[in-house]
Amino acid sequence: NGAAEPPPRLVLDLERLSQVPSDKAGPLQRYAATIQSQRGDYNGKVLSIRQDDLRTLAVIYDQSPSVLTEQLISWGVLNPEARRAVDTTAG
Ligand code: C2E
Ligand code: C2E
Ligand code: C2E
Repeated sequence: NGAAEPPPRLVLDLERLSQVPSDKAGPLQRYAATIQSQRGDYNGKVLSIRQDDLRTLAVIYDQSPSVLTEQLISWGVLNPEARRAVDTTAG
């Protein structure tokens, strides 16, 4: 209806993340561990991250945010609603 909606939350599934081979998921595993440590948030099954963090991760993975988002969703690590958080028309 055109009304502004809040962007969806980006929620990492930490259990799934720990199961993805670290040759692929290593940078994200270290990034998530750093956020947990900065927040003192060690006991969660999930971790909500900033929109900005997805952009930073895209730089780390040398991919566009939309391509990285699809990859993380295919691993089962990121909630599919996160698609709405990235501008999929920007490639
Ligand atoms: P900071 O960015 O200076 O944030 C200080 C405090 O403001 C945070 O303490 C938190 O209580 C609150 N805060 C800031 N932004 C948000 C937000 O979007 N949502 C919520 N719920 N609270 C917010 P906290 O959690 O102890 O984090 C300490 C520092 O750790 C932060 O300082 C930041 O430098 C880093 N950090 C924590 N989580 C993240 C994250 O998800 N991404 C990034 N890039 N840095 C984070
Ligand atoms: P929600 O955002 O849908 O989160 C649902 C539940 O997922 C949370 O229940 C918590 O168990 C888990 N969760 C989500 N993100 C994180 C995370 O970064 N770390 C950890 N350890 N767990 C996470 P909870 O805590 O009972 O919160 C229920 C609802 O209360 C949340 O629903 C949200 O709407 C609100 N809420 C809780 N904490 C915050 C916060 O720091 N900022 C804001 N804006 N809302 C919060
Ligand atoms: P949230 O706490 O529900 O915050 C939703 C949005 O409100 C954030 O989206 C951010 O745009 C804004 N916001 C909330 N608190 C602050 C703040 O203290 N300073 C500023 N500048 N903006 C704030 P964002 O950044 O995409 O974060 C998404 C979610 O990630 C947050 O939902 C929260 O669950 C988590 N998060 C992000 N940064 C931190 C942090 O530093 N500490 C903690 N504990 N959680 C964080």
